Amino acid sequence: MGSNTGASFTGGCLCGRVRYTVSAAPAFTGICHCRNCQRFTGSAFETVLGFPKDAVQIEGERKIYQDTSDTGRPVYRGFCPNCGSSVTSEVTVMPNMLMILAGTLDDPAAVQPTMELYCSSAQPWLNLAGERKRFSHMPG
Ligand SMILES: [Zn+2]
Ligand SMILES: [Zn+2]
Repeated sequence: MGSNTGASFTGGCLCGRVRYTVSAAPAFTGICHCRNCQRFTGSAFETVLGFPKDAVQIEGERKIYQDTSDTGRPVYRGFCPNCGSSVTSEVTVMPNMLMILAGTLDDPAAVQPTMELYCSSAQPWLNLAGERKRFSHMPG
């Protein structure tokens, strides 16, 4: 999280129709290797920043796809209906948090993830540098 405490983050989708501004430091930053995040992003993993919902202002229409977690709870995955970029994620166990997908940040290097989730389905060729807490599925 570095020195960016209290600072604002900006970002948006590939085409620019969905844009957001965040006026808080992230409560957590993590990498998720679960298969659903791999599919949602079309990539090897998803990097997310968790923010208090009321600190995030989003402009532009997102389409929300209701996914289901491995514990059977809904996961609301938000994407731009025009360009298809994955932008947000929400889970019912953290009702006051909105997760922003870090690849959509205007400055994606502004934050560093501190944990990795669902390492059990991480791609075998992936070797990410850095010290992070690693969990085979979800923490505790
Ligand atoms: Zn877009
Ligand atoms: Zn995931």
